[in-house]
Amino acid sequence: MDEPEHDVIVVGAGNAALCAALSAREHGASVVVLECAPEAEAGGNSRFAGGVMRFAFDGVDDLFRLTQYRTDPTLVELLVTRSLDTMIWLRGQGARFVPIYGRQAGKVGGRWKFFGGLPIEASGGGAGLVQSLTGAARRRGVELLYETRALSLLWDGVRVNGVRVRSGGKLRDLTARAVVLACGGFEANAEWRTRYLGPGWELAKVRGTRFNTGDGLRMALEIGANPFGNWSGCHACGWDRNAPEFGELAVGDQFEKHSYPLGILVNGDGRRFVDEGADFHSFTYAKYGRAVLEQPGQFAWQVFDAKVLHLLRPEYGIQRVTKVRAQTLEELATKLEDVSAEGFLRTVRAFNAAVRGDVPFDPYTRDGRGTVGLEPAKSNWANTIDQPPFEAYATTCGITFTFGGLRVDGDAQVLDHDAAKIAGLYAAGEMVGGIFYFNYPSGAGLVSGAVFGRLAGASAARSRGI
Ligand SMILES: Cc1cc2nc3c(=O)[nH]c(=O)nc-3n(C[C@H](O)[C@H](O)[C@H](O)COP(=O)(O)OP(=O)(O)OC[C@H]3O[C@@H](n4cnc5c(N)ncnc54)[C@H](O)[C@@H]3O)c2cc1C
Repeated sequence: MDEPEHDVIVVGAGNAALCAALSAREHGASVVVLECAPEAEAGGNSRFAGGVMRFAFDGVDDLFRLTQYRTDPTLVELLVTRSLDTMIWLRGQGARFVPIYGRQAGKVGGRWKFFGGLPIEASGGGAGLVQSLTGAARRRGVELLYETRALSLLWDGVRVNGVRVRSGGKLRDLTARAVVLACGGFEANAEWRTRYLGPGWELAKVRGTRFNTGDGLRMALEIGANPFGNWSGCHACGWDRNAPEFGELAVGDQFEKHSYPLGILVNGDGRRFVDEGADFHSFTYAKYGRAVLEQPGQFAWQVFDAKVLHLLRPEYGIQRVTKVRAQTLEELATKLEDVSAEGFLRTVRAFNAAVRGDVPFDPYTRDGRGTVGLEPAKSNWANTIDQPPFEAYATTCGITFTFGGLRVDGDAQVLDHDAAKIAGLYAAGEMVGGIFYFNYPSGAGLVSGAVFGRLAGASAARSRGI
């Protein structure tokens, strides 16, 4: 065979891909990055991300608990034990981090108190992270090809030798010693969502990029890669009911509405349907999008009274928000579009009567101020809804990314159906299956992409003795 044109091809130009490219370069490989989006829209979900990053001080327990003990022990061990080191590596690549004063902290007795185990975010959010990593990749000689869509893997039955792409209206075969797939899940593909997540998922809004349509997964499955993880599961949260079909870079993640633990959620019948205060939003929001999708009409209103309005996160203050305000509950009931006013008032009466007034309210700890004898219960941060003005925000389900992916080993190399390594093929980011099941702790996506991207890049560079 002729000498390949490149040592490593990386598919995608989000966080995982850029980490893979930088890492492969660090290990001496020549690297080309293929991105199907035009440069103005490149960067995938990583660019939409708020930029919060969860790395481990303590251990793996949170991920085990949240995934109902399904998470793959090898992968989660890698993710957790390498997370801090990878944050330091990212800093060495030019990424900058700042404390999350706005969303994950509040002032108690004049001092900032951080909650949810998330004190750090990328400076400039996900967009800032992508910008600094893209700049670093350019400076280090990584070639970036935009509007270049990977179509299929060049595979001789034994090893992957490159990628067939469409670029400028032409097909081209690019050859390489190794390929890293880091081109996201299938969240932006309505047909695949319906096929794998189930009926109704075609109706979800996509929080991020329109370009993650499952191409990388399809290409790998076509050559016998082993699917792994929670293929019927995804990360999805409450998202403005009138948000557009796909994410908008100018708005970023601000259509999300994550302060529901401070109020109640009601559906079209005016009924509550989840424990809004089961935990900090970081540990419930990613599964509550599904709960909203399951309600009649796929929407829910978040309702708050004056006691907590000053605690609402900054995203509640954006201009493009579906919000109503009223001075009485009866007036509010008439303003909640598509909601039974009678049902809503009945729910609030029952809720107010069930709130435990004997436990103090503390938004920064799991305060145990719950309800008594109510179904569903509210376990923490339960306050009566009785003090005007009242505000309510309409949400629907916004899908973030899909959990199903490829089976990889501890080197991020893709395995086939016989659990054998596919020579020359690696995967990172949303494409790695087996980490998230049912739920997700906020801030884990970017760190997972960085940990497995860095690993995949290094393994790909080494795969032919570079
Ligand atoms: C609104 C929002 C907020 C979020 N906030 C956070 C947060 O604060 N913290 C956190 O940790 N996570 C957050 N996440 C999740 C996080 O963004 C993702 O988990 C992570 O960025 C995924 O990185 P990735 O590199 O795997 O994929 P992506 O960043 O999505 O990159 C995939 C890339 O592949 C490209 N691509 C797709 N198909 C092809 C093809 N055929 N050929 C070439 N290129 C292709 C896409 O254009 C894209 O650039 C958020 C996500 C969203 C949508």
